[in-house]
Amino acid sequence: MRRYYIWTIGCQMNKADSQQVANYLERAGLSEARSAGEADLIVLNSCVVREHAETKVVNKLNSLRGLKKSRPEVTIALTGCMVGSQPDHLKGRFPWVDLFFRPQQWEVLSKWGEAWGLPGMDAEEDLIPHTPCVTAYVPVIHGCDSFCSYCIVPYRRGRARSRNPDEILRHVQELVQHGTKEVILLGQIVDAYGQDLPSEVDLADLLAALNRIEGLLRIRFLTSHPSYMSRRLISAVADLDKVCEHISLPIQAGDNGILAAMKRGYTREQYGELVKEIRCTIPGVALSTDVIVGFPGETNEQFTRTLEVLERTRFDKVHIAAYSPRPETTAARNLKDDLRPEEKEARRAQAESLQNRIAAQINAALLGQTVEVLVEGQQKGKWCGRTRGDKLVFFTGNAGVIGRLVNVRIEKTSAHALQGVAD
Ligand code: SAM
Ligand code: SF4
Repeated sequence: MRRYYIWTIGCQMNKADSQQVANYLERAGLSEARSAGEADLIVLNSCVVREHAETKVVNKLNSLRGLKKSRPEVTIALTGCMVGSQPDHLKGRFPWVDLFFRPQQWEVLSKWGEAWGLPGMDAEEDLIPHTPCVTAYVPVIHGCDSFCSYCIVPYRRGRARSRNPDEILRHVQELVQHGTKEVILLGQIVDAYGQDLPSEVDLADLLAALNRIEGLLRIRFLTSHPSYMSRRLISAVADLDKVCEHISLPIQAGDNGILAAMKRGYTREQYGELVKEIRCTIPGVALSTDVIVGFPGETNEQFTRTLEVLERTRFDKVHIAAYSPRPETTAARNLKDDLRPEEKEARRAQAESLQNRIAAQINAALLGQTVEVLVEGQQKGKWCGRTRGDKLVFFTGNAGVIGRLVNVRIEKTSAHALQGVAD
C-alpha cells in the first residue's frame, strides 16, 4: 500500500486544507506514513506570513533534497501560501519538488492524482475525514479582499469567496454523522461571510442554520475583522445556544497612526466601542486578539498605546508577532523596516509578559468554579478539552468520554491552562 506524509505549518486554514488532502489520499487507498522517509508522497503545506515561517519551509524543502536523490520515485508536493500564481521561480529554486499547487487549487492535485493512478479529487466529498474527530475546521470563506498593508495572504489566497450555505450545511451534517461535536468556521475575515454571494445571507444566518443540527454541540468562528462585526452577528452569538461565547477579533495595534499605516480601517476608539458592545450583549464572552509590534516607524510611545489597549481590554488570549516585511505587500514596498530585530523582540517579549500576567489573573478567577468541557482526548495521563470560552482544561476523574460534555471543578490555574476534577 502506498503511503503519504503531510507536513503543515501556519494558520487553521492550512490545517483544514491539509486535512482535506489527507481525506482525499485516504479515500484513494493510501495510508499515513509516520515520517517523510517512509512515504511515497510527501506534501508540504507552507506558510509565509512571516519570514520565520518561510525559513522553516525552506529548511524543510532543503532537507528533502537528499531523500529525492536516493529515492527519485518519491513525489514531493508543495502547497500553501508559499506557492503564488507563478511557481516557475520555485521550480527553479527547488527542482526536486515535483508538484506545486496553490491553496485550494484542487484541480491541480486531482490531475496529478489521476496520472498517479488515483481517483480524481472530489472537493466536497474529500472535506469529510474518514476517522471521526471531535472538533473539525470548516472553511466558510476563502481568500481575503482587505489588503492590510503588511499582509501577504490576499496575494496568495486570492479574492474573498464564500461557500454556498447549503453546501456548508451538508458538510457539517456529514461531519456530525461521522462523530464531530464541535465545528470551527474559518475565514480570514469570517464575519464578511456571504457578502460576495448573490443571496442575502450572512454569518448570523449561517450560525442559526447550523445551530439547528441535532448532535452538534458547539460552534465557533474565526477570525473576525472589527470592521465587519455586525450587531446582528453579536446578537446571534448571544442568542444561539450552541455558538460559544468566544470571539477572535484582531486589533493589530493600539495607535491610530499605526492602524492607518496598516490600512486596518478602524481606530482604537472604534475598536473599544465594539468591545463594549460585545461585552454588554454577550455576558462572560472570551475575547482573543492578534497584535503586531515593531511595524515600520512604530515609536516607543506608539508601542506603549498597544500595551495600554491590552491592559485596558484584558483579552483572554493575545497572539503577538514582531513585524516581518513580506515581499509584494505595500508596507514592504513603501515603508522602511527601521526597527532593529532586537528592539522588535524586546517589544514582543514586553507585550507577552504583560499578557501572561493578565491571562493568569483572568484564569485565577475560575478557581473553585465548575466549567463545562468538551472532552477532546488524553494527554500525559489526563483528560483534556476546552471550555466554551476556549480555555484548555486538563482534568482527572472518570467522566472522561471523548466527545462528551463534562463538568469540571477547577483546582489549579495558570496563564495558559486550567486543571481540575470531573464532577
Ligand atoms: N485575517 C486575520 C486578521 O484580520 O487579522 C488574520 C490573518 S493573518 C494570516 C494572521 C496574523 O498574522 C495576523 O493577525 C497578524 O497579526 C500576523 N501577521 C500577518 N502579516 C504579518 C507580518 N507581515 N508580520 C508580522 N505578523 C503578521
Ligand atoms: Fe491579512 Fe488583513 Fe486579510 Fe487578515 S484581513 S488576512 S491581516 S489582509
